[in-house]
Amino acid sequence: MIIGGGESPHVFAMAMRTRFRGIRVREGILVRGPAGWAEFSPFWDYKPVDCVPWLRAAREAAYDVWPTPVRDTVPVNCVVPAVGPEEAKRVVAESDGCRTAKVKVAERGQTEADDLARVAAVRDALGPDGHVRVDANGAWDVETAVRMIGLLDKEAGGLEYVEQPCATVEELAQVRRKVDVPIAADESIRRAEDPYRVARLEAADIAVLKVQPLGGVWPALRIAEQIGLPVVVSSALETSVGLAAGVALAAALPELPYACGLGTITMLDADVVTHSLVPRNGVLPVVRPEPDPELLASVAADEATTARWVERLAQVEQAV
Ligand SMILES: [Mg+2]
Repeated sequence: MIIGGGESPHVFAMAMRTRFRGIRVREGILVRGPAGWAEFSPFWDYKPVDCVPWLRAAREAAYDVWPTPVRDTVPVNCVVPAVGPEEAKRVVAESDGCRTAKVKVAERGQTEADDLARVAAVRDALGPDGHVRVDANGAWDVETAVRMIGLLDKEAGGLEYVEQPCATVEELAQVRRKVDVPIAADESIRRAEDPYRVARLEAADIAVLKVQPLGGVWPALRIAEQIGLPVVVSSALETSVGLAAGVALAAALPELPYACGLGTITMLDADVVTHSLVPRNGVLPVVRPEPDPELLASVAADEATTARWVERLAQVEQAV
């Protein structure tokens, strides 16, 4: 299963502004297909077989037509990494009108006081009418989650929701029965054998959907239709090429009650398109920007990285 119509892939490597998800450099492959540009950028902790949906998503972008949008813009949140309070305030202030902030919490090596201070700073910067959500990436056990959600909710003057407080669906279900703050499932959907288990076990109030790990815009849209929960579309820290697929999904959803996690281009030090999908006034336009040859060249990975990605792509193609 090749991605592009025989066109050679562009392997890119670009620095992250702040360490996120344990990575400092974002890498991947961009390739042009008959239908448009595609991005294949699974994180390195994904085994080849886990990368198959990412490859399907890239193939869809290269060959298929995405669903018809029902809106012209998509509201997005800003992302506050596990930084100190002053830096957290700066991120919100520089987010150009995002009225929702997603705050990373439960980062390894940090304290609960760090999380509380960060959330308080974000509330301060957003003002009382903004929305503060937190993401623990499954780091808490049930007891810690219940206690921390209570403390953070108080510190934030109300949390919009808490994303993936614990690792398993069973734990999410337990936490959900013990707190008033809505629970969003992310890893429990995108890394699960069965994305609908979260709904069956009444383990979440909100479904976070990401295009690449779910195999494309169409498969993600099908999950959105069948899961019976409000959906938040989030990125996998893609370039504007990959983000455009997330925007296409968000634009096609019949209802979009929450800001989406697609305003992540500002976390990268570079981009490959002239008009990056940078949030303006808290929204992204529903567009599909094309890479600029010079920008593509400027983020080209070195030989060793390129070789690793070409080999990886071949492994994933074999795993299909
Ligand atoms: Mg998440």
